[in-house]
Amino acid sequence: MDLRIKLEKEFRLVESQKKALSKMGINSIEDLLYYFPVRYGDTSQMKNVESLTKGDDVTVFGKISGLKTSKAFIKKIPMSEGVVEDETGKIKLVWFNQPYIAKMIHEGQLVRVEGKVSERRGELYMSNPKIEVVSTLPNAVGDSLFVGKEGEDTHVMYPVYPESKGVTSNWIYHTIQKIFSSGILDKISELIPQDILKKYNLPSIKSALVWIHTPKNENDALSARKRFAFQEIFFIQLQKQKEKKLWKNNSAFKIETKKSDINEFVKRFPFKATDSQITAIKAINDDFKRGYPMSRLLEGDVGSGKTAVAATTIYAVSNTRPKGKTFGNLQTAYMVPTEILAKQHYENFITYFEHLPIKIGLITGSGCKIFPSKSDPRKPTNISRPQLLKWVENGEVPILIGTHALIQKSVKFKHLAFAVIDEQHRFGTLQRQKLTSKNAEENYSVPHLLSMTATPIPRTLALTIYGDLDLTLLDQMPHGRLPIITKVVQVNEREKIYEETRKELKSGRQLYVICPRINEPDPTKELAIIAKSVTLEAERLKKEVFKEFSIDILHSKMTPAEKESVMADFSSGKTKILVATSVVEVGVNVPNATMIIIEGAERFGLSQLHQLRGRVIRSNHQAYCFVFAESKGDKTKDRMKALLTAKNGFELAEFDLVQRGAGELYGRKQWGISDLAMEAIKNIKMVEASRAEAIRLVDEDETFKKYPHIQEYFKTQTEKIHFE
Ligand code: ADP
Ligand code: MG
Repeated sequence: MDLRIKLEKEFRLVESQKKALSKMGINSIEDLLYYFPVRYGDTSQMKNVESLTKGDDVTVFGKISGLKTSKAFIKKIPMSEGVVEDETGKIKLVWFNQPYIAKMIHEGQLVRVEGKVSERRGELYMSNPKIEVVSTLPNAVGDSLFVGKEGEDTHVMYPVYPESKGVTSNWIYHTIQKIFSSGILDKISELIPQDILKKYNLPSIKSALVWIHTPKNENDALSARKRFAFQEIFFIQLQKQKEKKLWKNNSAFKIETKKSDINEFVKRFPFKATDSQITAIKAINDDFKRGYPMSRLLEGDVGSGKTAVAATTIYAVSNTRPKGKTFGNLQTAYMVPTEILAKQHYENFITYFEHLPIKIGLITGSGCKIFPSKSDPRKPTNISRPQLLKWVENGEVPILIGTHALIQKSVKFKHLAFAVIDEQHRFGTLQRQKLTSKNAEENYSVPHLLSMTATPIPRTLALTIYGDLDLTLLDQMPHGRLPIITKVVQVNEREKIYEETRKELKSGRQLYVICPRINEPDPTKELAIIAKSVTLEAERLKKEVFKEFSIDILHSKMTPAEKESVMADFSSGKTKILVATSVVEVGVNVPNATMIIIEGAERFGLSQLHQLRGRVIRSNHQAYCFVFAESKGDKTKDRMKALLTAKNGFELAEFDLVQRGAGELYGRKQWGISDLAMEAIKNIKMVEASRAEAIRLVDEDETFKKYPHIQEYFKTQTEKIHFE
């Protein structure tokens, strides 16, 4: 057996298993060994049906019968039922909202059922238990599939793996045991250098694999998990530190701007810059002066004024001639995630730069613009894409703002000295790479990179995933901002809230209403989520609540032209109320909109709610955020409370990390980190240790010659990415 070999080469798999495994990301033997249990069951919780009492958390084994699907009496939600029976008795099982259960399991099958015992009218039952088909029953309670020889501790932990249709936890367990018994563990190479293992008291790869899949006790399991978490974070750090070192080996345009010029530019803003903004501008200008490219992350809560920092530093770039030239300007590419935002930045930049002889281009999927227009030097004009691209390539357009359209192949710059990525969490590494390699070939320089984000993430996570970037925080809000008033609204207060908003609307302010859905769900679909929709809510508000105000809608299914005209009307104040999905979440800026009503708030992440709330803290008027949550569960309550009490996004992120567990919040998809490593992110000591070790190794030699296994690891990683 070999680690890289495909599972199906060693094990006979049926089609449904193949499908499930591939969905779970398990292809090779190695993949399965790295598929870790989510938790461990304890065989001491196994009980006979006879001995069950209310409130028990138990596992019972038995035969299933009486399977049927029906509708629950009161709420008409679909419900599955069944009965499990062992030698000592029967207990009823019910599942709500899981009509498929009765179809997945067949009459008479042997099953393992795990859950809490409840009681209703004197009868015991289990509600929404976990159920799994097994091939054999344990002989007696206390005896289990996992208990070893007599005399050994009977208090045994068995691994519980995340399942997928066709692949059970049990199957995974047994397959891994077979792999272990093939002697493969002796072939696995140790990825973490010995001195590091020793220093942090981490088990070897061999022990850790055995312990994580079949721990004898909790300590073994913990220590194995700790090792794998460390390993994952350590390798991310190695990668990031390596990238950082290589990035600095590039040469970049040197940009030196007179302080007085910068001050002059900043003075023209219709506001006084905050100290945070000044500090950030200075840090960036200092980076510009070095011969190697900057790579900096500007992190600031929504409304902290990141755009002004970007604009000022872009000014410094545009104000600089290419080396050895007496004409032309260095160029900037400014990439944003949506057309609405691109358009808005474009308009703002025109006001910031109108006094200067600097052309500004806009490129999006739906068209291109150039400023100034020949006929009216105060206005932009539409131009053809080829024309704009020609000017950009000639170096005649110093500032190009755009969406993803910016990174298409056809876009080339003559002297791209600065790449700015707004709302950078919306973009991937690949897109960033594309943007920074836009210079014409004869020009070997790499642009300075400024990434901006308002996604508040815990410091430990930032240290890990942004390990290659230098960090600047904008931790001050503009002067004179009143803290936003956030209210979690109770059902009976709806009318009162509408009256409050009406008062503000009358005095000229504007309102966002955010709904989780675009259209009303199909009522014939039993399980369709019942949540407010943009279209129906807008109609309802117009008819029943805000008859006197103009209302419009905005959502992602509209064409760019439709969106644009809706946003234009809202920006100009023609529309007073905008009912929208979370598309307004990203960066949209209408200072006069000071109120936001969020419907179905439990459907949004805390970070997202905070971002949405940020839409209305853009002026010195009092801002309000009214939050409606349909679910009354404890979890929702806790989260809403956090939203009320957190002072800023960072605090909220830290709170979320502790309260909800990282996996749920910032899943694998978003950051490319496993749930296991995410748990470890809570531990600042571990993150700092892995970072320090990675920096040490990379400083020594970023090709890792002394560590062939690490070299090998990166080689296969690169190959994997290459083939994806
Ligand atoms: P974000 O950091 O979320 O991108 P923006 O750059 O869009 O925030 O700024 C939000 C609003 O605050 C804009 O209307 C901007 O003009 C304004 N603003 C920026 N800096 C200041 C400041 N120092 N004082 C007052 N208003 C400011
Ligand atoms: Mg912004």
